[in-house]
Amino acid sequence: MTFRKVLIANRGEIAVRLIRACRELGIRSVAVFSEADANAMHRRLADEAYPIGPAPASESYLNVERLIEVVKKCGAEAVHPGYGFLSESAAFARAVGETGAVWVGPPPEAMDLVGDKVRAKELARRADVPTVPGFDGEGADESRLAEEAARIGYPVLVKANAGGGGRGMRAVARPEGFAEAVRGAKREAEAAFGDGAVFLEKLIEDPRHVEVQVMADAHGNVVHLGERECSIQRRHQKVVEEAPSPALDPQLREEICAAAVRLTRHAGYRNAGTVEFLLEKGEAGANFFFLEMNARLQVEHPVTELVTGLDLVHLQLAVAAGEPLPIRQSDVAPRGSAIEVRLYAEDESGLPSGGALLAFAPPEGPGVRNDVGFEAGDTVPLDYDAMLAKLIVAAPDRPAAVRRLRSSLADYGVAGLPTNLSLLRRIADHPAFLEGDTTTGFLKTHALSEPPARRPVPPDALLLAAAAELSRPRPTTDPFDTGPWRLLGSARLRYKTGGETREIEAERARDGGLALSLDDTTSLVEVAHGGGPLIRATIDGAAISARVFVGRGSTDVLLDGEAFRLERPSPPSVEGTASGTSAAGLISPMPGTVARVLVSLGDEVEEGQLLLVLEAMKMEQPFTAPHAGRVESLPFGEGAMVPGGAVLVELEEPPGEGPR
Ligand code: ADP
Ligand code: ADP
Ligand code: MG
Repeated sequence: MTFRKVLIANRGEIAVRLIRACRELGIRSVAVFSEADANAMHRRLADEAYPIGPAPASESYLNVERLIEVVKKCGAEAVHPGYGFLSESAAFARAVGETGAVWVGPPPEAMDLVGDKVRAKELARRADVPTVPGFDGEGADESRLAEEAARIGYPVLVKANAGGGGRGMRAVARPEGFAEAVRGAKREAEAAFGDGAVFLEKLIEDPRHVEVQVMADAHGNVVHLGERECSIQRRHQKVVEEAPSPALDPQLREEICAAAVRLTRHAGYRNAGTVEFLLEKGEAGANFFFLEMNARLQVEHPVTELVTGLDLVHLQLAVAAGEPLPIRQSDVAPRGSAIEVRLYAEDESGLPSGGALLAFAPPEGPGVRNDVGFEAGDTVPLDYDAMLAKLIVAAPDRPAAVRRLRSSLADYGVAGLPTNLSLLRRIADHPAFLEGDTTTGFLKTHALSEPPARRPVPPDALLLAAAAELSRPRPTTDPFDTGPWRLLGSARLRYKTGGETREIEAERARDGGLALSLDDTTSLVEVAHGGGPLIRATIDGAAISARVFVGRGSTDVLLDGEAFRLERPSPPSVEGTASGTSAAGLISPMPGTVARVLVSLGDEVEEGQLLLVLEAMKMEQPFTAPHAGRVESLPFGEGAMVPGGAVLVELEEPPGEGPR
């Protein structure tokens, strides 16, 4: 039996990934979307889609009642929850079951059991799996907790029973900070999970995070798919994940995977799950301790897929449909090395950010996989987790995978939103990362959390930004027509970078190239190809290429793997000395967006007739016909972004009608 229709109770990259898996299997996919996601990628890709309420997650993606209504209405035979949102809610899993649909995940009883970290640790002990020393906190008041903390020995960690995503967790170094840490953890857990229960654990110093992927069916088969290491974390949230772990030898791998399988069996578990461990460097080798079990598909599952050649979502759907696992333990033979990085829309201090994604160009190439939730032109809402995409690379061995990651990250192009790309690049480029010398303190140890001192923008980046802005294609008439740029007369472009304003004087050179003057040096720039963001040019005869993303108020230049952001200040960054009306046509005086086009190619227009409206610097600027004539050229359509100095409309005077 397999499903004909599956509802995906999620959004973003995981919803997109699940929809694609359904399509491969010939299953109809049903998306749900909030008001903020009315035009989201997952909605566009699904075979059917239903609105589930306003933007806040509590009113949409966490709205059980509404979701259940949709399950009933659309006739889905199964519900896949993805990760995050309701994926670990046993109550939702039960409600789905009551409609007659199948929950693509573990039985609710197993979710209840492993969803509570304290109960899960008890289970681990019964399954003879080592746990981090601590105190389960049950019914204890603050003074009892403080006593136990002293017994465990500082530093200790206060953790929420219901915790997840690194929330409800406080490290305490000394007894003085203990009471406040307990209150803080309780408050945070109460707010995030509606459950303020906390427990204590010994703080393991600078451990590695190693986890085992398990898969179980309804016929008593349990297999593990090897381990992943996810030590590089910020605020206890994973940023980089890989398989296999560079820290395990075959014997330790065998032990830790066997422990995960034992625990899975004891939990009466089914479907995909992850058993998380901490690995502590000890005198006589490494010790591992059970941390928690995640009863769902994990964000980082693709690294396991790339080393095992298995599709975890296909396996999840097969097992949920009651089929026996199509693989035995002896069939699982991980090969090579895979690394994943999480791309977040966030500013340099790590705060999530939203807005229009003007350009989005994930890298391509052999061994490169991108799981994305957005495309260029999409708006990233601030209402949800700010993860835009995951980049996953695979290669025959770890050093090759690291090299592939480095070059892929160097190629990654995003414009319009700040991202953590520069952090990801600094991690990938770090010698300790290549060595596999990774622990949960990696970012702190190597001071990578702090944004690095900015390198001054090289002149080439400024010249290429200007060349790109002046040679942008005319989007409407012919997609293959990528040139020539339409600068009439001369223009001055201004960019702001690091508090400094840089000016470039642009003129058309005699042979058709651009003469760009910056700091009293004039360079001859010829754009050989300026189709998409990739711009190939010669600067004074030397070939150079970069990716240039011209965004709303800023231009991002990716040159030699480094990203430079140039702000285009108002007043206008381009002052066309030939702006306004010329013999040839109507010219944009500054960069802007075409708000409205009121005529079509070939129309006869009268003098003074409104032709086009440009929106620039939040103001609408009308362009009217300077004389009667026929519309000869209309290079930009509505919504197109235009550089300063571009011809917007060209008019040809109609042939004289002659006396009749
Ligand atoms: P993993 O171990 O799979 O990396 P995380 O703990 O990082 O899982 O969380 C997985 C995803 O779910 C992240 O995108 C995180 O922001 C999101 N998430 C975690 N907890 C919650 C929650 N309570 N509600 C909504 N999203 C959550
Ligand atoms: P969550 O549910 O938020 O994922 P986990 O218990 O899985 O919480 O822990 C998340 C991360 O916090 C771990 O990967 C590790 O970096 C850190 N951590 C958790 N417990 C300990 C501990 N006892 N000692 C040291 N670090 C810990
Ligand atoms: Mg965890």
